[in-house]
Amino acid sequence: VLRSSELLGHLDIERPTFLVDRERVARNIQRMVERAAAADVVLRPHFKTHRSHAIGRWFREFGIDGITVSSVEMARYFSDDGWDDITLAFPFPLQQLPRVAEISEHIRLGVMVHSTSSVDVIASLRAPGLRVWIKIDTGYKRVGLDWDDDETLEAVARRASDRGLEVVGVLTHNGLVYQERSREGVLRVHRESVERIRHARDVLMAAGLDDITVSIGDTPGTSAGGTLEGVNEIRPGNFVFYDLTQAALGSCSADEIAVAVACPVVAVYPHRGHTVIQGGAVHLSLDALETGDGERIYGRVNPEWPAGAGDGAPLIRLSQEHGIVRTGGHGAQNIEVGDIACVLPVHACLASNMHDRYLTLDGEWLDTMDVGDRGHCTTLRFRGSSDER
Ligand code: PLP
Repeated sequence: VLRSSELLGHLDIERPTFLVDRERVARNIQRMVERAAAADVVLRPHFKTHRSHAIGRWFREFGIDGITVSSVEMARYFSDDGWDDITLAFPFPLQQLPRVAEISEHIRLGVMVHSTSSVDVIASLRAPGLRVWIKIDTGYKRVGLDWDDDETLEAVARRASDRGLEVVGVLTHNGLVYQERSREGVLRVHRESVERIRHARDVLMAAGLDDITVSIGDTPGTSAGGTLEGVNEIRPGNFVFYDLTQAALGSCSADEIAVAVACPVVAVYPHRGHTVIQGGAVHLSLDALETGDGERIYGRVNPEWPAGAGDGAPLIRLSQEHGIVRTGGHGAQNIEVGDIACVLPVHACLASNMHDRYLTLDGEWLDTMDVGDRGHCTTLRFRGSSDER
């Protein structure tokens, strides 16, 4: 059956709604805080997963005081809520240089360089508050200096010191872990990435940079308990919510998935074994997960969420607004139009981005940075400034 559990009966859900189980979120944060403490590394969580002041404050209760963001707008949004130690782990557009300089006047802002010319760009800002990280590519082939290109690494280090920039460390995101299909695979790829970034650190230290901090960040490697030898800082983000992809990779169990998209059932076709929900790409994103038998699914309905397992009826097709759930064999005859289906997302970071507010199981609405024009306004303003927002 798809009917949502009794536990959600008190919530007023009339359209696709992103639900957050605060207790599970707190447990997920707690576990990652403990892992970081046990390995003696700093936890600098990536806040792009939730993009919410309220959830950011839950992290504060666990002693987190430095965070990671992926856009200039996000840096500003969280600095507006008192976060004053932020790493912008994205090669922001040159058009936003003045904004970056302005934010760095108010808080400790970390930015990345990934070439000698990006060193020149950052140096041209003459912003003493900026902290500079060298982005290393440990095999993902997205952004960063190749971990084994010693010559270019040394050239970047030399250019940074010639231009008077203080480099605080090396930073990588090893997206390759997401191509793995097992915890063992994740641990192997994670270990390789850690060894590679340590090599880059050693090259830079030999070139004269000292006190190089090593920062790595991804949820699978850090959740699976991979090695953190030689690592000083971790930046996972997804772990706050987790999702079906993380469960498939062995990062979490189904009962750690802290979010679901509640979707009204709008049509039922027992002869086809299909149930149609208002829950399409605009509510869940198009990220899909390949199951063991090679099928691509976009979520799974868990009729008992927030209890129960993550093995419910699969969402097998998505269009913009519609989702087709294969209910055949899952008690389709009991489903009625008007029921609410709780869909566990394939990728919680993208699914949450489809919603500008979240609903907690206590019935509280949480705004994200997309509410109002805060993410998009054209001038930067800070708390205490006299300008109107
Ligand atoms: N750091 C960087 C630079 C990232 O791009 C990401 C995610 O894409 C993270 C950290 C967090 O990784 P995850 O989404 O696996 O938690």
